[in-house]
Amino acid sequence: MTGREPVGLATESRTAKAVESFAVYGRDTGGPFVLVSDHAGQAIPAELGDLGVCATERARHIGWDIGIDGVGRRLADALPAVLIEQVYSRLVIDCNRAPGHPTSIVRESDGTPVPGNQGLCAQDIAWREQVILHPYHDRIRRELSARASRNRPTVVVALHSFTPVMRGKARPWHAGVLHNKDSRLAHIMLDLLRHEGLTVGDNEPYALTDTSDYTIPVHGEQRALPYIELEIRQDLIAQPEGQAAWAERLARLLPQAWRAFCDRYGEDTP
Ligand SMILES: [Zn+2]
Repeated sequence: MTGREPVGLATESRTAKAVESFAVYGRDTGGPFVLVSDHAGQAIPAELGDLGVCATERARHIGWDIGIDGVGRRLADALPAVLIEQVYSRLVIDCNRAPGHPTSIVRESDGTPVPGNQGLCAQDIAWREQVILHPYHDRIRRELSARASRNRPTVVVALHSFTPVMRGKARPWHAGVLHNKDSRLAHIMLDLLRHEGLTVGDNEPYALTDTSDYTIPVHGEQRALPYIELEIRQDLIAQPEGQAAWAERLARLLPQAWRAFCDRYGEDTP
């Protein structure tokens, strides 16, 4: 698989129009990493207009994880590895939330109201889940199941970015490593990143939990796969130079982290 894979056609659209809900980049050359990016996209289905949110607001961190698309695609090329990216804005539905979660479809985000998300009926919500959420997670599931059927060692790497200032408070970390029940690979990666001279949050700016997150709990922890959930501060990767620098760093450190993990725990030991 090289470049964009035009798949992910939804069959449940109420306009019967094909909608791509995810994109696949990079290629599988035998390495352990599968990259996923829940908040990489900014698209909104035509049926939903602009959700009543102006372009400037949609371009803020509330609409997507600024810069992570550029990091993810470069990293997929550099490792190389497969990257599965959500193409729709998190304002339409948050693909790192369980269906029905209170912040799955937000009515406001960081002070910005989202009129198009007000007063939705069950059918409206189900449509977004069927067209956007499920096809993306099904694609990740297929990738991981195919690897499991061939007994391939697999590490799920979830890529995110975070806003430098939240509610008036500056965030000091260059990056954060998030973990939940299995912290083994996270701790190795944390040490490697700190060794680069970076300020790295340990479950900061967010802690990974079963309820606040969806992708890693479902695709990593429920499958007992080692994983890394990474958050990079958005001002560091807003431009191509920063994206390239972070992709280069991660392409270097992720294999180091995996080798250290295998030395310590063995690659078959989830
Ligand atoms: Zn994110």
